[in-house]
Amino acid sequence: MDVSALKRDLDGIKFDDNPAIVQQKSRDFYWYSPVLKKQLDHVTGDLIVTPKTEAELIRVLAACHRHGIPVTPRGSGTGNYGQAMPLSGGVVINLAEMNEIKSIAPGRVVTGPGAVLADIDKATRAHSGQELRLSPSTYNTASIGGFIAGGSGGVGSINFGGLRDFGNVLRLRVVTMEAEPKALELTGEDLHKVTHAYGTNGIITEVEMPLTAAYEWLDVIVGFDAFMDAARYGNALACQDGILTKLITPIAAPVPQLYFKRHQKFFREGQSICVVMVAQHGLDAFLAFTRRAGGDVIFNAATATPEEKKGLPPAYELAWNHTTLRALRVDPSITYLQSLYPFPNQLALVEKMDAMFPGEVFSHLEFVRLDGNITCFGLPLVKFTSEARLDEIVRLHEENGCPIFNPHRYTLEEGGMKQTDAVQLAFKRETDPQGLLNPGKMIAWENPDYDYRSGRTFLFKGLQRAG
Ligand SMILES: Cc1cc2nc3c(=O)[nH]c(=O)nc-3n(C[C@H](O)[C@H](O)[C@H](O)COP(=O)(O)OP(=O)(O)OC[C@H]3O[C@@H](n4cnc5c(N)ncnc54)[C@H](O)[C@@H]3O)c2cc1C
Repeated sequence: MDVSALKRDLDGIKFDDNPAIVQQKSRDFYWYSPVLKKQLDHVTGDLIVTPKTEAELIRVLAACHRHGIPVTPRGSGTGNYGQAMPLSGGVVINLAEMNEIKSIAPGRVVTGPGAVLADIDKATRAHSGQELRLSPSTYNTASIGGFIAGGSGGVGSINFGGLRDFGNVLRLRVVTMEAEPKALELTGEDLHKVTHAYGTNGIITEVEMPLTAAYEWLDVIVGFDAFMDAARYGNALACQDGILTKLITPIAAPVPQLYFKRHQKFFREGQSICVVMVAQHGLDAFLAFTRRAGGDVIFNAATATPEEKKGLPPAYELAWNHTTLRALRVDPSITYLQSLYPFPNQLALVEKMDAMFPGEVFSHLEFVRLDGNITCFGLPLVKFTSEARLDEIVRLHEENGCPIFNPHRYTLEEGGMKQTDAVQLAFKRETDPQGLLNPGKMIAWENPDYDYRSGRTFLFKGLQRAG
């Protein structure tokens, strides 16, 4: 890999080869997983390149193509499947400076890929009282391009479902990895080619996202003596069509007491909770519903004193993958899984799985609307003992009808549905014929004959190259 020759071709484009910066920008939140930590700790790129415009990006891609150098795109590096890590070294393209908010209209916003979600909402709120439909709990740091290429849903999914559902992304502009890179405009069905493809088949240079009305969202925490009461309450609240919520997150004791340090003063021992974001104008209805459902409101941002609210993180930073982050900060032996409890049996499945691993797996649910039905994902916390035991917990979930999106694997397929995505693979053949984009993340490209039922973990050969 002739990085010196590449550098000469990058004249006028910002790049960094300081080893400390290169290493820092070659990392994401892979360390969440003890398995990925072991596999990927040594991974580093050779050069960080920071284009400011699509024209600069095209020059970088053409130069890398000419020199046969792998390219891994990076937004803010908050992904936690090792998605943004350059397994074969090479160039990490930092898209953070392509962050322009280009236009805002009723129901839509157009931005560069590096725009941070919270900055987009700030602009759309000020412009016309609108906000993004969905955001990860890393709202304050994650980029829109990284969310589309690496994320799946989050805050707002209770109303709008997942990122890959029709209508949740309107248009993407994507640049290919060829001798003369092309810019393609994708809409409708074609969006599935690049959403959640980890940047393996094109670099997103512009996004058009749908907007919804922005309201004042209030953080409320409701307490219950038993976790299943919190789960049933969350399900029933999600089914209340008249109460506008943005987040409904039941979490089992003792997670809040042990790991939500700043909120600890509100929790009784043994109490499970449901964290909610509710529209301010729906608060009275929400409180009436909660009273009737037997919930104990233990924190209400509308009535809490400034003293009580001081230093508290927003509710969404207790939810989705922030629950795991808070646990990890207190107890590094904690890890997690991502599961789905399919409709219509979600509550029965939650109850079964919650009872199966006492003292080892702690339930955490996120209610969502999927294909018109209310159901829930789980991001249960797991006390890690060994990889074999983790795999067994995964197997037991799957045998009981709860698919696991395994966050301890760095490939698209193993972290997702464990099958080839023919559409993404076909698009990669068109857009990246030399396989230079984010190598090692798409098994279907690296090893078309791979047997997903083998029970083994895919090991990318090129991984040995890095470090
Ligand atoms: C504490 C915590 C909480 C989280 N909560 C959620 C959540 O609620 N929901 C959720 O879905 N995820 C969540 N995640 C995962 C992650 O934050 C999201 O996926 C986030 O949106 C990633 O954005 P990013 O800018 O950091 O992307 P990065 O990590 O930089 O990149 C993610 C992937 O996209 C690729 N990529 C980046 N930019 C581009 C581009 N312009 N073109 C093509 N490919 C690109 C990268 O190569 C990588 O494969 C969480 C992670 C953490 C650590």
